[in-house]
Amino acid sequence: MNDEKTQVRTRFAPSPTGYMHVGGVRTALFTYLIAKHLGGEFLLRIEDTDQSRYVEGATELIFDTLKWIGLDWDNEPVFQTSRKDIYLNYAQKLIAKGLAYADPYTPEEVQKFREADSQNKRAFLYRNYRPANPPKWQIGMPLRFKQTNIKRWDWHDEVMGDLSAGAEVLDDIILIKKDGLPTYNFAHIVDDYKMGITHITRGQEYLPSTPNYLSIYEALEIERPKFVTIPHILAPTGGKKLSKRDGAKSVTDYRDEGILPEAMTNFLAFLGWNDGTEREIFSLDDLIKSFDISRIHNSGARFDEQKLIWLNGQWLRKIDTEELSKRAAIFWGSEAFDAAISDNYRQQVLELVRDRLKTLSDLPMMTAYFFKDPTIDLNLIQNDKKLSKLSQETIANYLQKAILKLNALEDWSAENLQNSLNDLLIELAEKPAVLFSLIRIALSFAPFSPQLNQMMALLGKDTVLARLNKVADAIENN
Ligand code: GLU
Repeated sequence: MNDEKTQVRTRFAPSPTGYMHVGGVRTALFTYLIAKHLGGEFLLRIEDTDQSRYVEGATELIFDTLKWIGLDWDNEPVFQTSRKDIYLNYAQKLIAKGLAYADPYTPEEVQKFREADSQNKRAFLYRNYRPANPPKWQIGMPLRFKQTNIKRWDWHDEVMGDLSAGAEVLDDIILIKKDGLPTYNFAHIVDDYKMGITHITRGQEYLPSTPNYLSIYEALEIERPKFVTIPHILAPTGGKKLSKRDGAKSVTDYRDEGILPEAMTNFLAFLGWNDGTEREIFSLDDLIKSFDISRIHNSGARFDEQKLIWLNGQWLRKIDTEELSKRAAIFWGSEAFDAAISDNYRQQVLELVRDRLKTLSDLPMMTAYFFKDPTIDLNLIQNDKKLSKLSQETIANYLQKAILKLNALEDWSAENLQNSLNDLLIELAEKPAVLFSLIRIALSFAPFSPQLNQMMALLGKDTVLARLNKVADAIENN
């Protein structure tokens, strides 16, 4: 498998349009995994020949996104606009063979042919209007492929199986545009050949054009790579293709919202693949080991953002604290960086709440009370389902008893705190759900918090007593 000829080589070939959507990154991941599973190379080619679609910064966005999810490409990225001469050279070969010719028509004239066909209820094919004596080709006119072998094509796709299409799809497609740059249809064939690509991974939208590509491979007398067609990603509801309207965002938006790259990779891998078992958690390395082309699905994969959030929760529990802490750094609220707060304290807070986080961007909302005193909001106590039956006096009494008990505690460890809280339950003959909710709310005024004794241990004795006293005062003065 390692000799030069059979070295597996795949390529991700995005167009720099300024947007790296889920589907594109999923293609990149599958492309990467196919290569790495087979010990091969994963190359990157920037398909930038459509100057009208060029977007400033789009290439950097591609690099950043791939790096973020850990898809390191081999070799330097290839930019198509810097390979103009190569395409022209191959175009000349076709001209020399009589298999390419200048298109003398204006776009308006071509449009007229189209309309005439549509009126006559027949499918438009440019080749029906092929000029008898085309002028000598030069830049400024499109160069078209001349289909001379009009036939039915049969081919094999590694995912879709044996496919076939009739002569009606074969046409004289444009190879080089007026501006001298190649079309995707031509450039990718030349590039894949020159780059030694063994497997082409791309979306279903390229299937209808495949017979035209097959004709060009034949005309150029080059061996074609294997085709690996990746199924559509479908909208969360219904069978249509996922679109921006369904909430499909740029992958970097998910990053900025606190999704971990591990979760994103894991999620994308399952959009059209599984390993045949019930297993759902895969790291990139696990995927490299398991990802076999034969298990790519040939029907659409439904996009389910809840699954991504769930996987993110799994990965938030899995990554080691120190590493997670680094990732979390940009998500903390400003209160977490008060001068008195150490890295170590932040790390302990993270450790306490990580199991409840959905994304890292939940951090400020979930942890603010660890860093600054919460604003007292007695409604939160009065409206709490478990506490609503207690009178103001009882609440004040519970808080006073808790203060006394905790004040007497010398060793402020989570374990001791738990014992002390348990004693208090017995003394007050109250249910844990009630008493602990009260203390929890009084200390945090937050909708969620970690286990009470652990939270108290981390907050420290002074803070806990000060907060409980303040709330007790507020209730008494209410
Ligand atoms: N530039 C094409 C796209 O972004 C690449 C298709 C291919 O991988 O061949 O859709």
